[in-house]
Amino acid sequence: MERVTRYSPKRQAILECICSADCHPSAEWVYAMLKPQIPDLSLATVYRNLARFREDGVVLAVGNVDGQERYDGDTAPHSHFICRECGKVSDLPAIEVAVPNMATVGKSEGCSVTFYGCCNECLEKTAQN
Ligand SMILES: [Zn+2]
Ligand SMILES: [Zn+2]
Repeated sequence: MERVTRYSPKRQAILECICSADCHPSAEWVYAMLKPQIPDLSLATVYRNLARFREDGVVLAVGNVDGQERYDGDTAPHSHFICRECGKVSDLPAIEVAVPNMATVGKSEGCSVTFYGCCNECLEKTAQN
């Protein structure tokens, strides 16, 4: 059965905000960006919609950075680099992964590769000190 997903204007604004940002935003970031335009927006609404978008597969959760889940509007396969210093999330090309035998654990639906380290800006800052 074909299901056409229609979003309310508020939903649409949240989705567009994530998709137009290349910083892999958190719910708090989306809320801060949209609040001036949508005065009755609540953080709970942003969280609820993000959960819905994840279920619909239109956004991906990249990972938890400093206690905040970060989201990606780019659902094409790619990898990420997360800076442990400033929490910046950068895109990297997709990586071929040797897929192990999953039979003993379950059925795999995908795989994402995330690198952790220190980004160039933070490396520069450290070098200057
Ligand atoms: Zn950094
Ligand atoms: Zn990404």
